[in-house]
Amino acid sequence: MTQFVLISEVGPRDGLQSLKSIMPTAAKKAWIEAEAAAGVREIEVGSFVPPTLLPQMADAAEIVAHACTIPGLTVAALVPNLFGARNAIAAGAHKISLPLSVSETHSLKNLRRSHDQVLDEVRAIAALVAEQPEGKRPHFEGGLATAFGCTLEGAVAEDQVVRMAAALIEAGCAEVGLSDTTGYANPAQVKRLIRRVRAEVGAQRLTGVHLHNTRGLGLANALAALEEGITTLDASLGGIGGCPFAPGASGNIVTEDLAFMLDSMGLDTGIDLERLLAVREIVKAALPDEQLYGFTPDAGLPLGYRGGWGLGPTSSSHSPSTP
Ligand code: ZN
Repeated sequence: MTQFVLISEVGPRDGLQSLKSIMPTAAKKAWIEAEAAAGVREIEVGSFVPPTLLPQMADAAEIVAHACTIPGLTVAALVPNLFGARNAIAAGAHKISLPLSVSETHSLKNLRRSHDQVLDEVRAIAALVAEQPEGKRPHFEGGLATAFGCTLEGAVAEDQVVRMAAALIEAGCAEVGLSDTTGYANPAQVKRLIRRVRAEVGAQRLTGVHLHNTRGLGLANALAALEEGITTLDASLGGIGGCPFAPGASGNIVTEDLAFMLDSMGLDTGIDLERLLAVREIVKAALPDEQLYGFTPDAGLPLGYRGGWGLGPTSSSHSPSTP
């Protein structure tokens, strides 16, 4: 298992895009600043989709540009196509992710594109990235959405996930990610799929997974991924996001709970837990009508908790280390 685990906060994108409420731009900036100050090193801050489709993301360019002023923060953005990628790069994003639904039914319904059409888009984006001057080229990741199952197709064949991973790399992605978009994954499946995809594209081309907690298996799946050598885990503060297909179910795995799990295991996240828990107040105040999830925020840190339970330095004295 890796000693440093990168928690990639996706709340400002995955979380906010599925809520009815629209978070004001100033609150988004305050949230991102506070979370970076708590030690979070990577934040997916928005999605470059047409505002007519997702008004929650209309300020994506402004948010990316602002986040880029925060020292040491990797600023990620989701891009559905070449047009979005162009805007994300112009705004200064360090990392861009394009989702490809392994379930083609889901792809046609969500992106209104077949796999071939998405792969054409990937090739065009890869060319655009290559055109950027050295040092300004964003890291380009292809996210394998619905990799663990689909709300429209049900089971998704693992062979198909492996094939699409290879296709994304061939089309020009630097890396692929596995996304449990629907919250169907279980730990055995997470391990198996990571092994299979890594065997196909190489371990260095699959370093992160994106998990949801729809059925309460989020942290178990995260641990399974870590045991396979995954080093980046997506999570959202307060677990915001929800899932339109599972009313009442929480969204992404909860950043606070994930950070506590890793820290208490003696792993390094670079995150100060007390400061992270305090960020919740900003989100709560900006989204008064939305439910926030998480056990650690409700229960508080254990009595006398000093981080790592005797396995090294206290969390508050963690010196920032680079991932
Ligand atoms: Zn998601």
